[in-house]
Amino acid sequence: MLKTMSAGTRSLFALGALIGLSSVTVLTLELETETPDAEPVEEVVTASLASLPVDPEDFGLGAALEVRPATLKRRETLSDLVNRLDLPGNDGHQALYSLTRSELLNARRVRPGLEVKAHVEGDTLNALSVDLEPGRRLMAKRMPGGEYKAFALDSQLIPTPYIVKGSIETSLYQDAQELGAEDQQVVDFAQVFAYDLDFQREVHPGDEFEMVFDVLMDERGNVIRRGDVLYASLNGKAVTKSFYRFTTPDEKVTDYFQANGESSTKFLMKTPINGARLSSRFGKRRHPISGYTRLHKGTDFAAPTGTPIYAAGNGVVERASRYGGYGHYVRIRHAKGYKTAYAHMSRYGRGVRSGRSVRQGQIIGYVGSTGASTGPHLHYEVYKNGKPVDAMRLKLPTGRKLAMDPEIFEVFEVERDRVDAIRATQQAPDESFVTASVAPPAP
Ligand SMILES: [Zn+2]
Repeated sequence: MLKTMSAGTRSLFALGALIGLSSVTVLTLELETETPDAEPVEEVVTASLASLPVDPEDFGLGAALEVRPATLKRRETLSDLVNRLDLPGNDGHQALYSLTRSELLNARRVRPGLEVKAHVEGDTLNALSVDLEPGRRLMAKRMPGGEYKAFALDSQLIPTPYIVKGSIETSLYQDAQELGAEDQQVVDFAQVFAYDLDFQREVHPGDEFEMVFDVLMDERGNVIRRGDVLYASLNGKAVTKSFYRFTTPDEKVTDYFQANGESSTKFLMKTPINGARLSSRFGKRRHPISGYTRLHKGTDFAAPTGTPIYAAGNGVVERASRYGGYGHYVRIRHAKGYKTAYAHMSRYGRGVRSGRSVRQGQIIGYVGSTGASTGPHLHYEVYKNGKPVDAMRLKLPTGRKLAMDPEIFEVFEVERDRVDAIRATQQAPDESFVTASVAPPAP
């Protein structure tokens, strides 16, 4: 079809109109070919990958087309792959060159698994397509003058809100995935509750959870990816709370807030370590080495040597050095009379020194067994006005309260009510969606 038209970009416009393209970026390259009716050097057309015909042969590439697919192997360059495809003359390299020259493709940053297709007709390479990522395909298309033009075909993604709702049977991770969430949504969900809940120990079978996120689909209804968690709710034995995602218009900080506008973030995280087993609680106990009964001033988390330890809150490092039986030890001074301390570390986090500021969640060290310790674990202490307190039972000052600022709270309410309206109207998960989309995306 294309061949019957006049050369150059105009034909792409025409083609775009014929097949309903809406966002293709066309870059014409200045190759040393004599094209009498060459169009301006750079033109932008819009087209959508999803609205393209399924069969690339319809893409003006001729009916008698042979398609040669190839997948980029480990340690293979795109140039190697093109050689492997055994394409006519130097066409493959010219086509590849048009893609890299257009800067749409960075040949050094491609990964094994990349899908490439050569569309060959007789002794000519009509097009070379590269599926860069889900929803984005690059194409080097041969023009009637013999030069290749590079363009990108992008899916126009339509967000559709999606609800995952259920009760925990095995783990939040597994149960939410079975209902259509992916790793990222579960991680986000856990993060929202990180200040209220020790996920390792305080989530139980029967606890009810709900999350809302956008599913981004192309115009054909293919799921391209899932978006941010907009709503996270847990109705469980340890905590019953719901949070809405919101970006504050003044500070431009994205956070999760309860319906009353209270931030999910707290002054200190509940546990400064992930995936650890609580091996000893705060309180009176027989000391495992000395044998005396005395107050255990902290909480012990057993974890393999090298597990990262995070600063529970923002603050200033008071001490980062060996400290008797505590071994390698870090103590942080926070606001409002709080301090936290971390003992028995194998080593310190980068830049963690006395007098330095640290951010909440920053790695301050790694689990070890230095000092008076019987095995790798973190001994974690929290002090309030100089007195040791139980980190697991701490009632902590909360973060921002949007209600303090009525104008901002009004903006928040609009988003909150929008999400609640979605929750009220959405039906139970559609089985076909779940089964159709849990498959991993293309590499
Ligand atoms: Zn301890």
